[in-house]
Amino acid sequence: MGDKNNNKFEDVLEEGQEACQACGGELKAEKVNLEEFEGGKLYLMENVAAYICQECGEMWVPEPVLAEFEKMMETAKRHSAVAKPKKAKKK
Ligand SMILES: [Zn+2]
Repeated sequence: MGDKNNNKFEDVLEEGQEACQACGGELKAEKVNLEEFEGGKLYLMENVAAYICQECGEMWVPEPVLAEFEKMMETAKRHSAVAKPKKAKKK
């Protein structure tokens, strides 16, 4: 089952960057965990393709991966908004 993920990983990397935009250092493709803390909630996406600069350690996330992460966050937000009990305004 890991093959599908692998293909996707390669696909993303093909449109990739060659050098770090911050320092010009060499980028290495790695799988990382994306974390975003927003609105008191932690959003996590594991094993996504990203580039790590070998010089400064900066992480560069390819556009498609970032888009997917944001989409996941949006979906999660909408779900939690529905689940959240609303205070009825009766007066
Ligand atoms: Zn760098």
